[in-house]
Amino acid sequence: MAVQRMLQFVTVPKEMPEKRPANLRTEDFHEIYREFAAQKAAEQASRCSQCGVPYCQSHCPLHNNIPDWLRLTAEGRLQEAYEISQATNTFPEICGRICPQDRLCEGNCVIEQSGHGTVTIGSVEKYITDTAWEQGWVKPILPAVERTESVGIIGGGPGGLAAADALRRKGVQVTVYDRNDRAGGLLTYGIPGFKLEKPIVMQRIAQLEEAGVQFVLNCNVGVDLSFDAIRGQHDAVLISTGVYKARDVSAPGVGLGGIVQALDYLTASNRKSFGDEVEAFDNGTLNAEGKRVVVIGGGDTAMDCVRTAIRQGATSVKCLYRRDKANMPGSQRETQNAEEEGVEFVWLTAPKGFTGTNGVDGVMVQRMRLGAPDTSGRQLPEVIEGADYIEPADLVVTALGFEPENLPEQWSVPDLGVTRWGTVKADFRSHATNLPGVFAAGDIVRGASLVVWAIRDGREAADAIMEYLAQPASVAAE
Ligand SMILES: Cc1cc2nc3c(=O)[nH]c(=O)nc-3n(C[C@H](O)[C@H](O)[C@H](O)COP(=O)(O)OP(=O)(O)OC[C@H]3O[C@@H](n4cnc5c(N)ncnc54)[C@H](O)[C@@H]3O)c2cc1C
Ligand code: SF4
Repeated sequence: MAVQRMLQFVTVPKEMPEKRPANLRTEDFHEIYREFAAQKAAEQASRCSQCGVPYCQSHCPLHNNIPDWLRLTAEGRLQEAYEISQATNTFPEICGRICPQDRLCEGNCVIEQSGHGTVTIGSVEKYITDTAWEQGWVKPILPAVERTESVGIIGGGPGGLAAADALRRKGVQVTVYDRNDRAGGLLTYGIPGFKLEKPIVMQRIAQLEEAGVQFVLNCNVGVDLSFDAIRGQHDAVLISTGVYKARDVSAPGVGLGGIVQALDYLTASNRKSFGDEVEAFDNGTLNAEGKRVVVIGGGDTAMDCVRTAIRQGATSVKCLYRRDKANMPGSQRETQNAEEEGVEFVWLTAPKGFTGTNGVDGVMVQRMRLGAPDTSGRQLPEVIEGADYIEPADLVVTALGFEPENLPEQWSVPDLGVTRWGTVKADFRSHATNLPGVFAAGDIVRGASLVVWAIRDGREAADAIMEYLAQPASVAAE
């Protein structure tokens, strides 16, 4: 094989090669990469001790059968590993890339616990499914029977797509309604491409389209089409609309130009990677190039913003967070990545206001300390009086988290049960709401959460919808 010949002359470095040796053709280089990735995956997989108490599996929201697919990978039986991996996860290549593994499977690996460094479960999962796509092991979705029942899914993020996949496999007619021009939800427009390459998401959407799932895009339910109309057209409805109401900073000067919201900033960047015309990016409003950037917030969205700003060529990137590093809500791994890339974290600081005349030119920062714990035991940040200072900034990105929109009001369905936080009330197992035939899944039920939880919810909701559809009409209508 060509690659073996090439490997006689090219020493594959310990880490992934950064530059292609001048004498290599592209196809040989790709093959060497593949070979290298295969070696790495097998090496990692063989580190699994098959401990018999798979905490990794129990801490994976999908309860993926990790030890088995690691063993098969170590033995070179990749196709079998893929079959096991895809049995419990609709999008393993996506989770492998963007799950916060340090808080889930890898953080609970027995080898990690014993101080020897976790098996890199996520990267093996990614490798297995990337290989499956390349090798044609990912088969088209071909339902054995076509059923007459139809399900309308409002929201084409990971929760909605996982449900669409499961329902279509059972032969149900599925329509996904989404207000964006592309499906995928935050996989498409939230999470940056350096963490999750967009073709990886688009190939899944194409797979669903080829399977007969109808996508009705640019359709803002409640504006372009009523919830009642969707309910009237389908035998069951799944609400998987995510949470999009950004929490605001309330401080003097917040209306100045150059202060933007995280999702607007990230969406613009993601749209550019699709080759879209984005005026607000092109005119500099949502582009960090050559700017002193300050990001406010300490969660994963803030980490995505700081890392995007670095890649756009910001002159400096600072992240203000009101607690300390140990108390950050975001993944420690993400924070470390950001630090390594040159982001400066200014712990125990909060914005008090913004300065500038035409546009923002600085953030008035107040220093904080951690005080007495609240009822949850978490120490509350307190202002240190007299320690304020001004942090110069040309672009300020606010990343303080998201809340649900008011669906009962926006959709004119006052009867839809919601919690006091505005999330849709749904049974935690069946995902049924209080309205007959209406189910809900993902962030709109949990509040801002994770892709892997949305996938789990979507799969479970699909099972519950199948049960609901199997009931006699008189029972279902109750
Ligand atoms: C910037 C950012 C980065 C993140 N990074 C990670 C990460 O690295 N790893 C991770 O696990 N999680 C991450 N998350 C969280 C993760 O993206 C979400 O938990 C997950 O996408 C929720 O899936 P969902 O299907 O419930 O909703 P979403 O992905 O939000 O999808 C909801 C869809 O519903 C559509 N919609 C909403 N309202 C309407 C309406 N009225 N009519 C029609 N369509 C509508 C939206 O357009 C959207 O496409 C991140 C979140 C953000 C904001
Ligand atoms: S889905 Fe996420 S938590 Fe589960 S094994 Fe994969 S990377 Fe780990």
